[in-house]
Amino acid sequence: MKATYMYGAGDVRIVDVPKPVIQQPTDAIVRTVRACVCGSDLHPYHSLPAMEQGLSMGHELIAVVEEVGADVKTLKKGDFVVVPFAFQDNTCVFCQEGMQTACVHGGWYGTPQADGLQAEYARIPQADGSAVAVPGVDPETASEDLLKSLLALSDVYLTGFHAAYMAKIEAGQTVAVVGDGAVGLSAVLAAKQLGAGKVILMGRHEDRTDLGREWGATDVVAERGAEGVTKVMELTNGEGAHVVLEAVGHMPAYEQSYGIVRPGGVISRVGVPQYEEAPIGFGSLFGKNARLAGGPAPVRAYLEDAIQQVLDGTIDPGKVFDRVVGLSEVPAAYAAMDARESLKVMVDPAL
Ligand SMILES: [Zn+2]
Repeated sequence: MKATYMYGAGDVRIVDVPKPVIQQPTDAIVRTVRACVCGSDLHPYHSLPAMEQGLSMGHELIAVVEEVGADVKTLKKGDFVVVPFAFQDNTCVFCQEGMQTACVHGGWYGTPQADGLQAEYARIPQADGSAVAVPGVDPETASEDLLKSLLALSDVYLTGFHAAYMAKIEAGQTVAVVGDGAVGLSAVLAAKQLGAGKVILMGRHEDRTDLGREWGATDVVAERGAEGVTKVMELTNGEGAHVVLEAVGHMPAYEQSYGIVRPGGVISRVGVPQYEEAPIGFGSLFGKNARLAGGPAPVRAYLEDAIQQVLDGTIDPGKVFDRVVGLSEVPAAYAAMDARESLKVMVDPAL
């Protein structure tokens, strides 16, 4: 089968690899209906040292179950499923506490534990906890819009949702979102779902911020750095935002976040930090009594509710996908997202 591997910065290739097989009785084998390229895939795309064996890529998937291991109880051949970007048993102590990305039997795709999901087929470990069946939808006849929105639940929307959820947004609060990528825009949609009042989107790509406005952003700030901070302070009577959702992961975005959070406010980060150290002192967090939240989203915790919201039309998170390609075009999709020619690319292996 065809699968996506990265061999160094900027070097993505489609290669032929053996079709996956059941390795553990808790595994399932699934056939990809749609996969996609993530903003976080661009981090290694910038920095991965050249390597001979390559890195198996991809962690977002909707799929049809082909085969289940002997211990899998909730899934059967033919089920149409959404696969969260991390795998988990969904039963251990951390899973029960809603922190499935810390599952004691969990892990990540594109690692020695499980291959990446930008491929024709995938092995899903801990399948009972790691794939959720979508009731009443046949992917062969479903609309492309519905497939896009279900795929967005695999990571991007529920990562944005996690940022908003961890910030414990209260009705009417002012929320600022840093970043107009697919996760940032998703965070706007999620913040409105959780009752935010004013939502200030910080981003400078108009085609993207237009989708942010459609999803509930009341203001858009294109300026960055100190100018961006000044603009947000002007929009908030000089008070700052109760909640800042940071969806970038680079230091300037963090600096902007503590610049615009109001006293007693919360910064919730879901952009994967590309830094190890960051200020927490008087001039950043301490002086403002600001709290820091966020981390890898436990998609599984929110997935069933979100599937229902997509099916009943409450949310339409699939609008972040602005391009659909076949597997052979995945390397070009990375390049298009890196060049910001595309917001988020969906992959249809049948193309
Ligand atoms: Zn667990």
